[in-house]
Amino acid sequence: MELSKRKFIKNTLLSSVFFLSACKTRFYSIKKNGEGFSTSKITNKKGDPMIELPQLPYAKNALAPHISENTINFHYGKHHQAYVTNLNNLIAGTDLEGKSLEEIIKISAADKTKAGIFNNAAQVWNHTFYWNSMKPNGGGKPSADLLKIIEADFGSFEDFVKEFKNAGTTQFGSGWAWLVLENGKLKVTKTGNAETPLTTNAKPLMTMDVWEHAYYLDFQNARPSYIDTFLVHLVNWDFVAKNLK
Ligand code: FE
Repeated sequence: MELSKRKFIKNTLLSSVFFLSACKTRFYSIKKNGEGFSTSKITNKKGDPMIELPQLPYAKNALAPHISENTINFHYGKHHQAYVTNLNNLIAGTDLEGKSLEEIIKISAADKTKAGIFNNAAQVWNHTFYWNSMKPNGGGKPSADLLKIIEADFGSFEDFVKEFKNAGTTQFGSGWAWLVLENGKLKVTKTGNAETPLTTNAKPLMTMDVWEHAYYLDFQNARPSYIDTFLVHLVNWDFVAKNLK
């Protein structure tokens, strides 16, 4: 009698462990959506929405040969995904859980104790903006309307190119080069690490990642070649025009 009671307890415990581990596996498999480009809304156990890795706006091999699928696999699938995962872990159980990414960036930027949250949140946003700043068969000059605005604000398209290249090459260490709209005028800026114009009064229009992970697999240490390629073959002027509206 005693033996069968013990057996019953053992079996019950084993099935509970199995059930809990199955739930845990399912929870993490939904959360870790970088590989499958899941578009389903992800929520935590309380039902609050979690920050998601957005879908790439093109196939992972669509920017080749300029940016290889291998780079995208690491840059998007590993780096961008890691910022998403870290951010969700950092805000879990805090008053930032359930807030939009933009709200999290603004709140954490104003609070020095939330630097880790800011870095991951801003990097999630900056990377999504970067993927949209490129397109297959992009680059070159924009359409006539946008070209006129660029010429008016920079002097000439060539002057814009010079300024943008300069921002990208002179950003010491990791960071970003940006085309922004500030006080009604186009402007080139650069930011270090995770910093983003979202925390300023400038409106971001386009960005280029100059962290080494953006170009090292395809261009090794030749950041200027990557910047040239970005401007000649990749920049998405339609995205810039859309952001200007
Ligand atoms: Fe990056």
